[in-house]
Amino acid sequence: MGRTAVEISNVDNKEIIAVLNEALSEEWLAYYQYWVGSRLMVGPMRSEVEPELLLHATQELGHAELVLNRIIQLGGIPVLNPNKWKDLARCDYEEPSDPYIEVILEQNLRGERCAIQRYQSLAAMTDGKDYATYQMAITILNEELEHEHDIEDFIADIERLKEDIRQFRL
Ligand code: FE
Ligand code: FE
Ligand code: MG
Repeated sequence: MGRTAVEISNVDNKEIIAVLNEALSEEWLAYYQYWVGSRLMVGPMRSEVEPELLLHATQELGHAELVLNRIIQLGGIPVLNPNKWKDLARCDYEEPSDPYIEVILEQNLRGERCAIQRYQSLAAMTDGKDYATYQMAITILNEELEHEHDIEDFIADIERLKEDIRQFRL
C-alpha cells in the first residue's frame, strides 16, 4: 500500500477497490475467452485473425496487471479466488462453444463493448478526484477501443469476402 496514494485519492477507497476487483475479474475472464476461442477458431481469414486475437488476449492480461497494481497500491486485496470472477464481473463470459470465426468475433466484440463501458465509467468516477486511477482507466480504455475497432474491421472484411463470393457466382 502507498500511504500517500490512499491520502490523495478523493474517492471512497472501498468503493474504488470494489470496482477495481470487478474489472480485474472481467480482465481474467476476457483473457481466457479470447485465448481459448482464438485457438479453436475455424473459418475464413483464421490465420490472419488468430494472431491478433492472441495479442488482444495478452493485452487483457496486461490490463489485469495494471488493475491489480492499483488495488494493492490503494491498500486493497485483489480477488483471490477464481470462483469469484463470474460473480464479480459485469461483463459476460461467453463460452466459445461454436468455433466458427464470425461467432467468436461477435462474442469478443460484445466483450470489448462491455469493457469500454467499464473503463468509461471508471474514468468518470475518478475524473478530477483520483488522477492515478483515472489515468490507468484512460490507458486501458484506449486499448479496448482499439480492440473493438480491430474486431469490427475483421467482421467487415469477412462480410466483404462473402459478398464478393456471392457476386462471383451470379
Ligand atoms: Fe481489457
Ligand atoms: Fe479488450
Ligand atoms: Mg489489436
